Amino acid sequence: MTRKHIFTAGPCLLPQRVYDDAVAALGNFAGTGVPVLSVSHRSREWVELMDETRALWRELLNIPAGYEVVFMAGGASMQFLCVAANLLRTKAGYVNSGIWAGKALKEAQGFGNACEIASSADRNFSYVPRGYEIPAGLDYLHITSNNTVFGTQLREDMDCPVPLVADMSSDILSRPVDVSKYALIYGGAQKNAGTAGVGFAIVNPGILGKTGRHIPSMLDYRVQIDNGSMFNTPPVFSIFIMNRTLHWIKDSGGVCALQKLNRAKADALYAEVDRNPLFRGTACPQDRSLMNVTFDMASGYEALLDSFVDFAQGRDIVGIKGHRLAGGLRASIYNACTMEDVLALTDCMKEFEKKNG
Ligand SMILES: *Cc1c(COP(=O)(O)O)cnc(C)c1O
Repeated sequence: MTRKHIFTAGPCLLPQRVYDDAVAALGNFAGTGVPVLSVSHRSREWVELMDETRALWRELLNIPAGYEVVFMAGGASMQFLCVAANLLRTKAGYVNSGIWAGKALKEAQGFGNACEIASSADRNFSYVPRGYEIPAGLDYLHITSNNTVFGTQLREDMDCPVPLVADMSSDILSRPVDVSKYALIYGGAQKNAGTAGVGFAIVNPGILGKTGRHIPSMLDYRVQIDNGSMFNTPPVFSIFIMNRTLHWIKDSGGVCALQKLNRAKADALYAEVDRNPLFRGTACPQDRSLMNVTFDMASGYEALLDSFVDFAQGRDIVGIKGHRLAGGLRASIYNACTMEDVLALTDCMKEFEKKNG
């Protein structure tokens, strides 16, 4: 079968080397002769893999000493709960910049007073809210660094007078991050950090243990930290894939090298979206995401949407339909996506223009 150009939003394309490592480990994990699906999570080899995976996170993101790295099942949506359960005491502020941000807020409201302090809902989440006032005394401010569904991104690390919590599910490891500006960074692994089944949290433990509420053990970051993220059986295969993905990032030159490639890929795709009269970008140019490029058929060409998706499919391009709640088109071009994949898509857009323009 020819190699597909995969633009799915998550689970997404992973590096070929990671797929190959996965196949090999299904037969024999770390020279043990035991398939990774059957390895004991208490074995020396597995514990070493857990330690190495945490160390790779620290190295790749230059995580300051004192911060902890935690892995938990349940993905980013489970972290929506954990954040509020562990940190919400009197009042938390949420920036409503998209569908995931809204879901994070809704989950937190089940634990106490979580309120929206800024929103971009007025223009269908096509921009990132800026310049809003952050009330003093918030337990934390919650932001979403990259809005996967609408294709907007806060590309810089903001200064914040209260503890800053960020859902970085869809742009973690795509650029350097000043972790010291955040109290907590979390996400699901299935965009840049591996496949579905596990979430990550990078947490400053100084913010924990202040709510006075009973936190169920499985949701309690302190319990997870004390147990090396193995309070119960961890999702071994998903963590293995994360480990191999982090190795690939390191061997690719780290997050700075990937950031350069990510910029070049996004520039090439946005340039074609802007040039091609059949298409139009849907996010505000200054807030465009380098990870999820959202676009649509231009005015007058709306009826061609499905036929473009089919045309692309015929050229081995998959996963470009927009999120079911946003419509239009979306190409997710995470770390593992190559310039060759992006050029396949831009060529396809050019050919479609020739046929239909
Ligand atoms: C994908 C995504 C989520 C949801 O992740 P799950 O692991 O499916 O819960 C949350 N936030 C953002 C920004 C995402 O991109």
